[in-house]
Amino acid sequence: MVSVVVRGIGWIVLYIAVAVVPLVFAVIGPVEGGRGFWVEFSVALGFVGMSMLGAQFALVARFRAVAAPFGEDALVQFHRQVSYVALAFVLAHPILLQIGGVDIVALMNLAEAPWRARCAVASTVLLLIVVTTSVWRRRLRIRYEVWQVVHGVLSVAVVGLALAHMLLVGYYLDTTWKVWLWTVMTLALVGLLVWVRVVAPIRRLRRPWRVEQNTAEHGDARTLTLIPAGHDGLRFAPGQFGWLTVDRSPFAITAHPFSFSSSAENHDRVQITIKALGDFTSTIGDITPGTRAFLDGPSGVFTPDRHEGPGFVLIAGGVGITPMISILRTMADRGDRRPFLLFYAFRTVGEQTFDDEIAGAARRLDLTVVPVPQYPPPEWDGESGFVDRALLERHLPERYLHRQYFVCGPAPMVTAVEDALAAVNVPADRVHTERFDFV
Ligand SMILES: Cc1cc2nc3c(=O)[nH]c(=O)nc-3n(C[C@H](O)[C@H](O)[C@H](O)COP(=O)(O)OP(=O)(O)OC[C@H]3O[C@@H](n4cnc5c(N)ncnc54)[C@H](O)[C@@H]3O)c2cc1C
Repeated sequence: MVSVVVRGIGWIVLYIAVAVVPLVFAVIGPVEGGRGFWVEFSVALGFVGMSMLGAQFALVARFRAVAAPFGEDALVQFHRQVSYVALAFVLAHPILLQIGGVDIVALMNLAEAPWRARCAVASTVLLLIVVTTSVWRRRLRIRYEVWQVVHGVLSVAVVGLALAHMLLVGYYLDTTWKVWLWTVMTLALVGLLVWVRVVAPIRRLRRPWRVEQNTAEHGDARTLTLIPAGHDGLRFAPGQFGWLTVDRSPFAITAHPFSFSSSAENHDRVQITIKALGDFTSTIGDITPGTRAFLDGPSGVFTPDRHEGPGFVLIAGGVGITPMISILRTMADRGDRRPFLLFYAFRTVGEQTFDDEIAGAARRLDLTVVPVPQYPPPEWDGESGFVDRALLERHLPERYLHRQYFVCGPAPMVTAVEDALAAVNVPADRVHTERFDFV
């Protein structure tokens, strides 16, 4: 655990170094002075904004070593939040230049503007498109797969054009070694994309999987049982997920993330359970045994194996039950004697996936289950509605503050439950979350 914390701190220090290192490069060596505070400040913001944009590639490159201390979910959230900061720096750069006396407005006449200005404008406009299409992807009705391709291509263009702008301006990039340094830094970061899209898939190609079974589950879900074809499979911790590609090459642009639903103690095969919610997930029923698949993983830090505690509270919304069933199955296989409390929120009675498996786990574990249908039938006398503060207070045991909490489901549900747990004073470091939608 300590080494995870140390590695986490190491990555944070490296991130900050990458963000501010251009400033250090800029002031090393001879530079002309006397341009005034606002111009210098504006250039500093531009440099830092640029290196933050470059580092964005690293945050989502799915490097297991980088993701291990934080979890993919946190990295993606950080990637999203930090893009606003980088955008603010990039936008502030021309505004402050104008304040500092450089006639930026005149440079907006692109027909006559020099190439350095054209590159800057193009990079900024594309960056605005990248951010708006990400923030409002659903509202703009952009399909996830289309968004993913556009996002990648435009992001490379943003960084490439920004680099061209810096090289053409040449100020603070006045020596050959500084030009090389910037070029190498940019290429290294963009190279991460090549790693994710080319090198990693080549490695996966050598480790194919085969669909052994495709089983219908309650709640419009199906479980795929996958067995390794000619290799030793993978070991995962209960609660982790993998990126699945079925019946397509591992180079296909879109792999989908799915939690493992089987016991982590079963090393022969893995299971994932998929609810039909969109284009890809609605086609799972068509997958026949024998189909080739590729699995990239394990990923994620949503696992009790990382968090020792005297007991666990699991809170699942809808298909967010999948990592929970893996946790329960694994703990039952390990003969774990600690108490588990499962809140399971779903829409209507009868459509909750894994009802029988949860009952089975309850016979092998110290497990209490609180089902929470959103729309209960008239004869229902249990809990219903949403998992909120009042509902938690009715069921949390004594000494609940000492337990570890795992919350999984759609993003709005996870956020609401996080707030409810904070309201009953559960310490934030005991609350672990997995949001089932990244963007
Ligand atoms: C860590 C994690 C674990 C998950 N585990 C499970 C699970 O065990 N069972 C399950 O049924 N679902 C799980 N999901 C959700 C599942 O990945 C999406 O429902 C699925 O990818 C939707 O694809 P689609 O083409 O059918 O739907 P679409 O209609 O194309 O998309 C629906 C939404 O799903 C998300 N999504 C779509 N494609 C991707 C993708 N390639 N990568 C990331 N997000 C995407 C987007 O937010 C999108 O708006 C998990 C998601 C995450 C992030």
